Amino acid sequence: MIIKRLTVIGVGLIGGSFALALRRAGIVGHITGVDTDTDNIARAHSLGIIDEIAADAASGVSGADVVFISVPVCAIAAIVRDISPALPVGCIVTDGGSVKAAIVSECDTLMPSGCRFVGGHPIAGTEHSGAAAAFPELFTGKRCVLTPGLTSDPVAIETVSRLWTAAGADVCSMEAGHHDRIFAEISHLPHAIAYTLVRAVGTADVEGENVLSYTAGGFRDFTRIASSDPVMWRDIALMNREALLASVDGFSASLAELRRMIDNSDQAGLTEFFTTAKKFRDGIV
Ligand code: NAP
Repeated sequence: MIIKRLTVIGVGLIGGSFALALRRAGIVGHITGVDTDTDNIARAHSLGIIDEIAADAASGVSGADVVFISVPVCAIAAIVRDISPALPVGCIVTDGGSVKAAIVSECDTLMPSGCRFVGGHPIAGTEHSGAAAAFPELFTGKRCVLTPGLTSDPVAIETVSRLWTAAGADVCSMEAGHHDRIFAEISHLPHAIAYTLVRAVGTADVEGENVLSYTAGGFRDFTRIASSDPVMWRDIALMNREALLASVDGFSASLAELRRMIDNSDQAGLTEFFTTAKKFRDGIV
């Protein structure tokens, strides 16, 4: 066993799956859950994801060796502010938020003496939310990026790393701002585009037809992630503002280039454009 007591704040897809994976690995003793959604936390308890429901975050961290926070990113630092006075000495606080620089710098300053914060982001998920969507294999073979900050000492980093490894993830580490720029391109931009595409097509007017009634495999594959939780993606867009704006600008320039080539009936240009994209895509699957 690596830790005796874990507290999970936000027992949804990520928090619930983390708890289930650690339980299955047999490396955690007791798991306390905290969640503002009373139906969700009751479900997490009845499904055996957590052993105990705490009334609020501050009482929930009593006696915890590790606290894992997995709520929408704009709520993470406020939770750390609430629990900070109640954290036991030696406690390690970590999170699963999809944006890191702002969270790590704020949470570092909120750590009381003797406690450590280690930022984390599992690169795994689905378009579903809540404890009922959690499953222990979610992180198997997936990356988990740790973004250590000023209070992350080697022991805390090693403990969080061992937890994610036990959950099945391949752990790597990088600077938080670097993480945010990479994931703006590879995750936040694709989600923004998927939502934009569905919204644009859903409101398109083609001689009064409901265009969405004609969707088939391609549209559904491409837009699966637009069924993700809107609050989660609102928060990610707000918190990774600068990096996401740069990604959106880069994408808009590419789309404008494509538009120009279509407008000019540029056969060679279009062939090169699609061929380059296909090569990148074929290289990742
Ligand atoms: P989720 O399934 O919606 O679970 C989050 C839970 O936290 C919900 O039950 C929510 O309740 C609760 N909650 C919200 N604010 C809270 C607060 N202040 N105190 C206590 N509980 C609170 O979300 P998720 O998909 O697990 O995402 C959690 C985090 O993981 C996010 O930071 C996200 O960026 C990150 N992440 C998600 C994915 C993914 O694919 N889903 C992948 C990697 C990382 P309400 O519904 O009532 O708000």
